[in-house]
Amino acid sequence: MWSETALRRADTRWGALDAARRDTHSTGMHWRILVVDNDPDVHAATLAALEGHTLFERPLVFMHAFSGDEARALLLKEQDLAMVILDVVSEQARAGLDLVDFIRHSAGLKNTRIVLRTGQPGQVPDLEMLLRYDINDYRTKAELTPGRLLAMVVTAVRSYKQLCAMDASRVSLELIVRSSASLLETKDAYEFASAVLTQLAALLHVEREGLVCVQRGDSRRDYYVLAASGRFSELVGLPLDLLPQGPELDLLFTSIDKRYNVYGEAGGLALHIGHKDEQDFVVFMDVPRNHRGLEPQLLDVLCANLGTLLHNRGLLGRLHESAYHDPLVNLPNRAHFVEEVNDCARHGSTDYVLALIDIDDFSATNDVMGHRFGDRLLEKVARCLQAALPTGVLLARLGADTFGVLGSVRQVKPRKLLECVHQPLHIDGVPHKVSLTCGYVLLPDEPQAGADLVKDATIALKRAKRDHRGQDLQYADQMGKDARARAVLRSELREAIETQQLFLVYQPQLNLGTRTVVGLEALLRWRTSDGQFVPPDQFIPVAEHSGLIVGLGQWVLATACATMRALLDAGAAPQRMAVNVSTVQLQDPGFFDMVCAALQASSLQGRHLELEITESVAVLPTQFLERTLSALRAQGISIAIDDFGTGYSSLSYLERLPLDRIKIDRSFVRQLGEPRGARIAEMVAQLGRKLGLNVLAEGIEDGAVWQTLLGMGCQEGQGYHIAMPMEREALVEWIRRHAPSEPAPDKLLSVQ
Ligand code: C2E
Ligand code: MG
Ligand code: MG
Repeated sequence: MWSETALRRADTRWGALDAARRDTHSTGMHWRILVVDNDPDVHAATLAALEGHTLFERPLVFMHAFSGDEARALLLKEQDLAMVILDVVSEQARAGLDLVDFIRHSAGLKNTRIVLRTGQPGQVPDLEMLLRYDINDYRTKAELTPGRLLAMVVTAVRSYKQLCAMDASRVSLELIVRSSASLLETKDAYEFASAVLTQLAALLHVEREGLVCVQRGDSRRDYYVLAASGRFSELVGLPLDLLPQGPELDLLFTSIDKRYNVYGEAGGLALHIGHKDEQDFVVFMDVPRNHRGLEPQLLDVLCANLGTLLHNRGLLGRLHESAYHDPLVNLPNRAHFVEEVNDCARHGSTDYVLALIDIDDFSATNDVMGHRFGDRLLEKVARCLQAALPTGVLLARLGADTFGVLGSVRQVKPRKLLECVHQPLHIDGVPHKVSLTCGYVLLPDEPQAGADLVKDATIALKRAKRDHRGQDLQYADQMGKDARARAVLRSELREAIETQQLFLVYQPQLNLGTRTVVGLEALLRWRTSDGQFVPPDQFIPVAEHSGLIVGLGQWVLATACATMRALLDAGAAPQRMAVNVSTVQLQDPGFFDMVCAALQASSLQGRHLELEITESVAVLPTQFLERTLSALRAQGISIAIDDFGTGYSSLSYLERLPLDRIKIDRSFVRQLGEPRGARIAEMVAQLGRKLGLNVLAEGIEDGAVWQTLLGMGCQEGQGYHIAMPMEREALVEWIRRHAPSEPAPDKLLSVQ
């Protein structure tokens, strides 16, 4: 749509000229001619020769000045002056030329024709003067017979008229070109049509009184009113043949039939805008009778330009469609959603809710069932959500399996929405149980960027995925603070990795019965530049969420393997080096190869390595997990389940996995003195035995616990009571001190 400023700017730019043009086409207008001469007889003679004549349908009107000053005063008030007939030396020698300079520069009358007149032939200005000041003609008074005077005025008025017309065309062309950009930006056909009316009114300099009709279907006369203004406003939406009979309608039909622009005899103008690839438009504009505001050629340029714009808008529309639409589920996409949220938030639409809904375990389903199945699942969920939402609520697909909903709190009830999939979905005839999780945010009172609101809802969604799967969770400011703190930690961690602030420590693992050192657990440490330690429980989850864990884990494995190699070479190595592996690492397709490469780089065998995985591996597809773990075990690598009992793995799940060891979490070991803690530890020990697995207890902090664990049949353990995690140098020292005698390579070490 045209901005008001653009219109105002256009108005002032062509203001002066246009005033002339407007006058030209109104009735009773004149050609104004100024006669400057200090001799009243010359004025009288001029009037006698010219008065009463009409040129190009307009009468001549005379103004008279008898001195340079009088002329200047008149000139400053004049905007539409066709001609000045000027005595060159009326006062002083240069007075005439000074006045010419005044006309061109001070009064800014560039089109006014100037004729110099003098009594003496010797006073002819030189050619340079004539050219510089665009002086039309130079005559001696004696030469100017009434007939010649009239001929001279005719020539001058004609060229003035042409100059003004050229100016008007140039300004109009500029206006047409300048308006194109804003017309292209119009959002829809209605806005385009409405902007066309505005543009036309500005160009023709008439009131914005008209209507735009667009072709409907292929039928030649089947048009309807798309936009209208002024007295036509009420006709919007009507088919053309239902419009009141009258000259407007006749003009429109003529324009449609002939496919060109027509001025009506009684006023009005109908324009035909067409492009072979687009539906035609016809425009009616109310212009007065005999209005010739634009040359027919310019009108043609205008219509051709509008036709091209229409076509380009069509292309843009199609591009827009693909940029804002998700073809898989046939819903708006993220870009569209964010724009709508922006709009909504900018208008301070409170009582609105922005909800993000995610399909639980979608990526696992996708991996196991295949992408085609995944696509069908997305489509089904999209249709279920759509069916559950009233019209007027926006539903979009924001990412792989995340949908966005924007609507009033009255219409959008997150908890109820999740129930839309309570029945299994039938995909390819197979019932599939689906659950959804939702994070949502209520739009605030104060304006906020749409992208920020989507981010808040995403934080709530992530939190819900972590702690409240299958449920809904409203965003709270604290979540945002936590998320920001994690973002800070993430960037600090990245820097810490680059500046090598991370290192490994090793904690010995004992056979609790024989006190022999059976293994070492490699644990990651982060010491910041000011000597503070950031606990792994804080930074490992951040590394996992940011994907940094893959590279970091590779470094941990390589470093732990190198330490194991050094210990073996020094004859101080226990049976195995245990390395913690997060579920994110296991998911990485290159994980198995990476482990083999690390072993090879340190010339280790598989039996030298144990990988500690946590119960969270349960989120991985079982087949995939079994395959990976079996491949690792085939290399001789042992697998331990870490922090056992804190996760949510089921017994049957555990039974199916190829495992070697269960590690009882230190929280149960710490509670051994309490009945519940003791029961759990005992259960785990029994379970391990039943499944034929070794059981290792973490967090042994005193001798009594050690004995209790032994009594429960737990063979192995680690903890501060046995040894703190140590850096490599201290570890070698510790091992030497605790070895009963100088051990042979690979010989078991024991602690007294
Ligand atoms: P975890 O694998 O269960 O590691 C054992 C944790 O118990 C270590 O904490 C260790 O310092 C601590 N610990 C050992 N003995 C005792 C004791 O007697 N009492 C108490 N209260 N704690 C004891 P840390 O080093 O803070 O590690 C915490 C967790 O961070 C680890 O738990 C592990 O899940 C993770 N982690 C550490 N290093 C890595 C790594 O390289 N990769 C991955 N993926 N995770 C790691
Ligand atoms: Mg561990
Ligand atoms: Mg543990």
